Amino acid sequence: MPKGLIVLDPGHGQFGNPHTTKAGFFEGTQNFILACLLRDELVARGFEVLLTRRRVEDNPTLEERGRLAGESGAILFLSLHSNAPGTEATPERYPRIRGAETFYSVSDEAGNIPIARALNNVVVEVMNTEDRGIKTRRHPDNPEQDYYGVLRYSAQSGCRRAFLIEHGFHTNPEDSAFLQDTESLARLAAAEAGVIDRLLPLIKV
Ligand SMILES: [Zn+2]
Repeated sequence: MPKGLIVLDPGHGQFGNPHTTKAGFFEGTQNFILACLLRDELVARGFEVLLTRRRVEDNPTLEERGRLAGESGAILFLSLHSNAPGTEATPERYPRIRGAETFYSVSDEAGNIPIARALNNVVVEVMNTEDRGIKTRRHPDNPEQDYYGVLRYSAQSGCRRAFLIEHGFHTNPEDSAFLQDTESLARLAAAEAGVIDRLLPLIKV
């Protein structure tokens, strides 16, 4: 019997957000590669998995991505990203900012915190990068809802176990070198799948 359905959301489209450290790499493509590797690891552990992008070229709306979780009866929604500094970073600081952070849905903070912590810990460990912590971001017009559309739509459609993982910064030489290497992404996928499998009692509610 399957352990449950997980929706993985590789952020952006194929050419979304170029890595600033090396030409020819894009956040949206590397997110897709990671999602496919994570899907295979989860399927090997007995989960069912749906991706919000069936092909690397696909770029559904945030609403379509989030709603797939509730509409398919997913026990977990994971949006996979890498990060870039905001406009407040000075040109000197910009490439030095690195580290992993995980946003979790405010729709069930108490239930989501331990899962977010465990997911972020494994990313920090495998990427050997800084820990920027676990976070929420509330919608300015409705603080009961998430700011990030994918998390908001996942929760609204019925999947409150919704997380957005920033796998380091594609603007930092060390983090992006990891993200550009498929073998490194495969190690990350295996480690994340192991954590998800161990957390299953906390995920499935
Ligand atoms: Zn992103």
